[in-house]
Amino acid sequence: MSMDRERVAYVNGEIAPESEAKVSIGDAGFLYGDAVFDTTRSFGHRIFRLEQHIDRLYDSLKYMRIDPGMSERELAGLTVEVFEANRGLLGDDDDYWITQRFTRGVRGDEGGRPTVIVECYPLPFEERARFYRDGLAVATPSIRRTPPQSMSPRAKMHNYVNMIQAELEVKGQNPDAWAIMLDVNGNLCEGQGSNIFLVKDGALFTPKEQYVLAGISRAVVIELAQEVGIEVHETDVDLYDAYTADEAFVTSTSFCICQISTVNGAVVGDGAVPGPLTDRLQKAYSGLVGIDIVGQYLSRLG
Ligand code: PMP
Repeated sequence: MSMDRERVAYVNGEIAPESEAKVSIGDAGFLYGDAVFDTTRSFGHRIFRLEQHIDRLYDSLKYMRIDPGMSERELAGLTVEVFEANRGLLGDDDDYWITQRFTRGVRGDEGGRPTVIVECYPLPFEERARFYRDGLAVATPSIRRTPPQSMSPRAKMHNYVNMIQAELEVKGQNPDAWAIMLDVNGNLCEGQGSNIFLVKDGALFTPKEQYVLAGISRAVVIELAQEVGIEVHETDVDLYDAYTADEAFVTSTSFCICQISTVNGAVVGDGAVPGPLTDRLQKAYSGLVGIDIVGQYLSRLG
């Protein structure tokens, strides 16, 4: 494996070194955030739930009325091709985020062809390792998650400004904190890249799909919980529920399951990291994906 080799990306029909892969300054994704994407990851160099991510991507495309110009199967094939072309650059214990993007295309192109990108990016294990030791400090900013009445959070679109504003507000006060937004009704909603779960009296509680992106990792946790007889409630949960919860965690493609230690400075439960139910679900997640998801992060601690 040569360290000076560069990753490659697919852009509009060609696979090229990332430094040569370009999109137009007139691209709608760049001009207006008029684009959709989806991101899965690899576990032990194997792509996870590609079909499910591509299904969600095609729903986002439908919502945005962008014609992808290719079938789900073609896109899956392309994704595997780009991943395989980059796989040799991964260290044994490293993995990639794997992303597909479709924009509405380039201004003035009357044919209206979308811009299509497939790319890989190394997961930030080192940067985030301490969160598996210490838990995440979560804070709720004043800014609320865009409601479905304005733009559906169920579609995964390029426009993340609402959530970026939330992160700026929270990190401006505590650079180590992660934003979990409230929805316009004051219920817990989601973070820039993650869903939230609370644990109370042995059951799981998570916000309803209408207000959040239906995370694939969220779905995995719901499946795993149901398999072992843990009740899951998709329902409104607010800050009272968070402050009085026994445990709380976020789910995302990169984190899988990561414990929340505090919410707005209040210790969740007894503050144990991981809490017993979170630990059980993390182990079940590891069993499903075939690698120790927590160990992969913790091994990076000095
Ligand atoms: N919510 C938002 C807004 C996200 O961007 C993400 C990341 N895709 C998630 C939730 C978690 O979804 P997943 O588990 O599919 O990564």
